[in-house]
Amino acid sequence: MYIPESLQARPDYQQCIAFHGHTCMGVTIGYLAARLAMELLAEMRAVDEELITIVETDACCCDAIQVLTGCTFGKGNFFYLDYGKMAFTFASRASGKGVRLVLKPEVFAVPEKEQQLAKRVSQPDCSTAEKKEYEQMYENRGVQLFAKGQAGFFDVQYLDHFKLPDRAPRAASKACDICGEMVMETKLETAGNHKICRGCLTAEHQV
Ligand SMILES: [Zn+2]
Ligand SMILES: [Zn+2]
Repeated sequence: MYIPESLQARPDYQQCIAFHGHTCMGVTIGYLAARLAMELLAEMRAVDEELITIVETDACCCDAIQVLTGCTFGKGNFFYLDYGKMAFTFASRASGKGVRLVLKPEVFAVPEKEQQLAKRVSQPDCSTAEKKEYEQMYENRGVQLFAKGQAGFFDVQYLDHFKLPDRAPRAASKACDICGEMVMETKLETAGNHKICRGCLTAEHQV
């Protein structure tokens, strides 16, 4: 994995790594996406719900995005779409503006030769020369990629009239008629004359 040392030395990058638990390309992509988006939107880290983020993947990158933007799972301004895409939307409630960043296809592209060498390095008869060549190719590709700066990673779509998701709902809690546990009122389901929680509803369907 090639990540420039100058980037790894940044305190905010280190915060992301501390939260995520390990250094990886995924968390680095999330870091770059969040930094770029906040620069484009001229926004600071969200204290409350000023900023929202919609991620279209649940991969490592999401952790850096939560740390840097302050859009978090817990605050309800971090939305997840299960699309399996390295695409991230950031939007500001104050300006109503948003950007959607999509990781460029070329970031995924590994040259044929490097792919062959990557297979070779896992084989026991791989020579030192082959290993070296592979490492060199891998690193060169990384150097070229990072040399373009964070904008080199993403295609940027500007969303000038973005319909922001609603603010995180707040509601009172009521007891479920079956288990008696307290449930946020808006999450209770109707079953006959009863108001029951989704846990009990699922259990009912499994019987
Ligand atoms: Zn990771
Ligand atoms: Zn229940």
